[in-house]
Amino acid sequence: MNFSFDIKHAESDSLARVGTITTPHGQIQTPAFIPVGTKATVKSVLPEAMADLGSQALLANAYHLYLQPGADILDEAGGISQFMNWPGPTFTDSGGFQVLSLGVGFKKVLAMDAKTFRRDDVIADNKERLAHVDDEGVTFKSHLDGSMHRFTPEISMQVQHQIGADIMFAFDECTTLHNTRRYQELAMDRTFAWAMRCLDEHKRLTEARSHKPYQALFGVIQGAQYEDLRKKAAGDLGTMESSGIAFDGFGIGGALDKSQLGTILSWVNRTLPENKPKHLLGIGAPEDLFVGVENGLDTFDCVLASRIARTSAVYTMEGRFNLSNSRFKRDFEAIDDECDCYTCTHYSRAYMHHVFRGKEMIAATLATIHNERFIVRLVDQMRQALLDGNFADMKADFLGRYKHRSGQASD
Ligand SMILES: [Zn+2]
Repeated sequence: MNFSFDIKHAESDSLARVGTITTPHGQIQTPAFIPVGTKATVKSVLPEAMADLGSQALLANAYHLYLQPGADILDEAGGISQFMNWPGPTFTDSGGFQVLSLGVGFKKVLAMDAKTFRRDDVIADNKERLAHVDDEGVTFKSHLDGSMHRFTPEISMQVQHQIGADIMFAFDECTTLHNTRRYQELAMDRTFAWAMRCLDEHKRLTEARSHKPYQALFGVIQGAQYEDLRKKAAGDLGTMESSGIAFDGFGIGGALDKSQLGTILSWVNRTLPENKPKHLLGIGAPEDLFVGVENGLDTFDCVLASRIARTSAVYTMEGRFNLSNSRFKRDFEAIDDECDCYTCTHYSRAYMHHVFRGKEMIAATLATIHNERFIVRLVDQMRQALLDGNFADMKADFLGRYKHRSGQASD
């Protein structure tokens, strides 16, 4: 087995820590931000450019790759790393979020302020649902061609083993903040049963495919905004063993009310085993990354940095703005004069404004490189600040300047 997690430094006044995750495809220095390449590509950017901007690993989506091109194709190619020409570590999510988000029709925004959205915004009418959950698994309709499919914990494990990422997630039932407490309890019982089945199938596949590089399996902690449910999920999955194996790490997922993010993460991480890596699923706005790091999260993924880049929105130390705004037409400064990315060291805001207005393909490429670098570097700076003993100052300095407060997204 070629997977381990070593903690190099732990803060005494918070849950924050610095460590190294070792996988068969290389190491990840944590805390780290993991850019999303949903369909085995970070849209519009070459893998070499992702490595140059400091990305240590990439996260792809099992649901999308299962539908297209098919997990067996990635297996034949020698796994996702080989297939997509990314030599470093990779993650796949289980497909649970995508399948279930089609089911209840909720928007791609999971973490939000519970006070500002209505039930109608997130839950589709029953007739419009594309997925139905039962105790065995989920039946769903492809968003590509309308064909019917079924995911069970066993099928998710088979798909993820074929895709071949270094870190995989157990198949879980993802709920929204608007499901009732009773439903959250039912979903948690189901997620627990599914976690056991994932461990069993993972063990079987690991033995059957022992010639392949070891793939680590992370359990996923649900429980929405309820303290007792979150702690129970963390306690149960943290100690779960089946067929003599336990989870290699944990993902924290599901409905997260932004105003309670730190509290929820603290409940979970004070309960989970300290010596295993923790990943926060689908959260990547700058202010939330600080909350995650302080509460013991080691890795993060979020599609937001690349998605907003394609709409001309960029992060800077002074906040977030849109390059297509006419005020940048004659602005020959870099997007962010403190940024060391390829885009900021070679192009001006005026050029970026021009290529966005002209709908040139390079606009998405250059803006994505900048945004991914901004977020990757921010988490790298947090890691360095923890080692240097000045995390609190670094956080105060950043948040004092950074004005924009944005939502989260995942796909
Ligand atoms: Zn830049």
